[in-house]
Amino acid sequence: MTDRPVEVLFSSAEIAARVSVLAREIAERLGHDIMIVAVLKGSFVFTADLMRELYHAGVRPQIDFMTLASYGVGTESSGHVQVTRDISDTVEGRRMLLVDDILESGRTLAHAKALLEERGASEVKVCVLLDKQGKRETDIEGDFVGFICPDRFVVGYGLDFAHYYRELPFIGYLAEE
Ligand code: 5GP
Ligand code: MG
Repeated sequence: MTDRPVEVLFSSAEIAARVSVLAREIAERLGHDIMIVAVLKGSFVFTADLMRELYHAGVRPQIDFMTLASYGVGTESSGHVQVTRDISDTVEGRRMLLVDDILESGRTLAHAKALLEERGASEVKVCVLLDKQGKRETDIEGDFVGFICPDRFVVGYGLDFAHYYRELPFIGYLAEE
């Protein structure tokens, strides 16, 4: 267990308000027939809330999940991303929305986006709750972004530190030990 206090960055009320606005933007720009691919594990809380807001915005999405792992980031310049759990639905001709917790270097989402495009998705848009803009190493950008995130490690609302803190209903910084 871990009991390090967490300093709130985005409260649950702020997150809920933002997610609702995001859902309406998505409905407006992508229409009501989309397929969501959520990148596990970090995005599961965000995706669950987003889907319910999408319902209120009139969207009737299908959803599937993908788990990606990055290797060799420290030693290789490009880093290597591997799919450790793939989606099971077909994406051909579908309008897709890739959902993740944080866009940082962009390697994870660039890999997932290319994969869905290769498989014949008609369109792949990217939605992230948090954007660490200063850390980008690819040319991918979020089409729908919840919040710009300071370049500090954050936890909560699905995001972990050593597999803890995902249950926090807000996003925050781990206090220094
Ligand atoms: P990238 O864009 O560099 O390929 O990957 C971003 C991923 O790194 C996110 O999906 C998330 O899993 C992880 N990540 C980046 N910054 C943070 C952070 O501040 N906190 C947590 N818990 N995970 C992070
Ligand atoms: Mg992730």
